Amino acid sequence: MAAGDTQPELPDRVIVPRSDRHQVVVIGSGFGGLFGTKQLRKADVDVTMIAKTTHHLFQPLLYQVATGILSEGEIAPPTREVLANQKNAQVLLGEVTRIDLENRLVTSHVLGRELVTPYDSLIVAAGAGQSYFGNDHFAQFAPGMKSIDDALELRGRIFGAFEMAELGAARGENVDHLLTFVVVGAGPTGVEMAGQIAELAHRTLTRDFRAISTRQARVILVDAAPQVLPPFGAKLGRWTQEKLEKLGVEVMLGALVSQVDERGLVVKYKDGSEKRIDAVTKVWAAGVQANPLGKQLAEQTGAPLDRAGRISVNPDLTLPGYPEVFVVGDMISLDNLPGVAQVAIQGAKYAAKEIEGRLQGKPAQAPFKYFDKGSMAIVSRFRAVAMVGKLRLTGIIAWLMWLVVHLFYITGFKNRVTAVMHWFVSFIGKGRSERTSTEQQIFARVALQRLARGATDLVSEPGEFDESQRRAELEAQAAEEARLSDENKRGVKVGG
Ligand SMILES: Cc1cc2nc3c(=O)[nH]c(=O)nc-3n(C[C@H](O)[C@H](O)[C@H](O)COP(=O)(O)OP(=O)(O)OC[C@H]3O[C@@H](n4cnc5c(N)ncnc54)[C@H](O)[C@@H]3O)c2cc1C
Repeated sequence: MAAGDTQPELPDRVIVPRSDRHQVVVIGSGFGGLFGTKQLRKADVDVTMIAKTTHHLFQPLLYQVATGILSEGEIAPPTREVLANQKNAQVLLGEVTRIDLENRLVTSHVLGRELVTPYDSLIVAAGAGQSYFGNDHFAQFAPGMKSIDDALELRGRIFGAFEMAELGAARGENVDHLLTFVVVGAGPTGVEMAGQIAELAHRTLTRDFRAISTRQARVILVDAAPQVLPPFGAKLGRWTQEKLEKLGVEVMLGALVSQVDERGLVVKYKDGSEKRIDAVTKVWAAGVQANPLGKQLAEQTGAPLDRAGRISVNPDLTLPGYPEVFVVGDMISLDNLPGVAQVAIQGAKYAAKEIEGRLQGKPAQAPFKYFDKGSMAIVSRFRAVAMVGKLRLTGIIAWLMWLVVHLFYITGFKNRVTAVMHWFVSFIGKGRSERTSTEQQIFARVALQRLARGATDLVSEPGEFDESQRRAELEAQAAEEARLSDENKRGVKVGG
């Protein structure tokens, strides 16, 4: 284009033209979105997947990206590539901002452009985000673990802390705050993260530095609840705590985080006593909040939301009064279903089958029933816990199971091959293949957020956070999680 020529104006709002076939819109490219779309590959429908990232993210392995074991590409292949051979599916980048149930329209935005996509059937699988329990300003000092951006920022912060400690120690300064790592939240993600940081400090990095001994690093796992890994029940929780402590992780339970700043955080105990921990690197692995699209759906249908923002759905995963709209995965509240990948996968497949069945004139399926294939969490190399039905496994058997299952679910053959190679490097050897991080990954996101939204994210509404109420809720939630697992009550119809 010659100098002085003007760019052709792009229309701000585009309405996606529809074909004569039944139109299915799928929101999200996570577990629910991807498996729902794939399930429709042979159906006589056009599927439009709208997602705010161009990749399908395998969240369970985010902590391995953050701690330098895997690359981001291995756990986040391009959705477009994954669906390249599915001719009835198209992928559109965009953040869905509005679902109009009456007119069957989904509105999404990308870079200021609005797209309106009509649907005949809709599968909403927009997942959940991090919850800071009303303290959103903690986020800039303690990033969560929900996205590739989060994992890369944490990678930079973790490895960067060792670098800064080396510099400080060479100048004779106290670097304890740089060599202290706090993980908030003793659920599976927190346990896995704490275990990996401890392995980094006590095993991987021991020969790399001159002025510091990385073995001196403290890794602290903090939770307001009285046990580690509540969703795995009391026994596996105790086993995990013991193994973490052997690994050098300090486990602080009953400790509610009440303040977070650049240099550390403050925890408060039930008796009112407080303890400050000086730690530059903090990871927030506590609390989830369902996607805000759930609130929109609740307002339009009257379906209630629970405290985590999850919407109540009918037993067939549809919304009251809107049988053409299915909600699946982390966004729903139904029969104590846990927020795990299999709930999203099975729910999305169920919804897709129902859509196809209706078009073929088949009778409705029986209500959705979750088949619990088990849960597992890794503590360190060769140590994991697994729960399959009534079976409880620990140690190397659980670890091998973890390896096989995760390998099976990683998307794409080449990602499986390279993941195995990287696991070999880290678990059999001592290395980490993916330690690279850039300054932009560490600092740019916070700067961009401030530019885009001013300082609104950095302050929370005063009074939103009632410490004693929050503690009581977290304790009750942990007790309930442990009870449901111990009594095998997940996915069992409540009150029926
Ligand atoms: C760190 C971590 C570790 C985990 N470990 C395990 C584990 O070991 N085992 C297990 O079973 N589960 C695990 N989970 C939980 C599991 O990942 C979730 O239960 C599962 O991803 C839920 O699937 P979903 O489809 O509901 O949501 P997601 O997989 O989160 O997908 C949501 C999708 O919606 C998109 N999206 C969100 N908002 C919008 C919008 N407004 N517009 C367009 N697109 C949007 C997102 O970009 C994403 O593509 C873990 C989760 C995390 C965060």
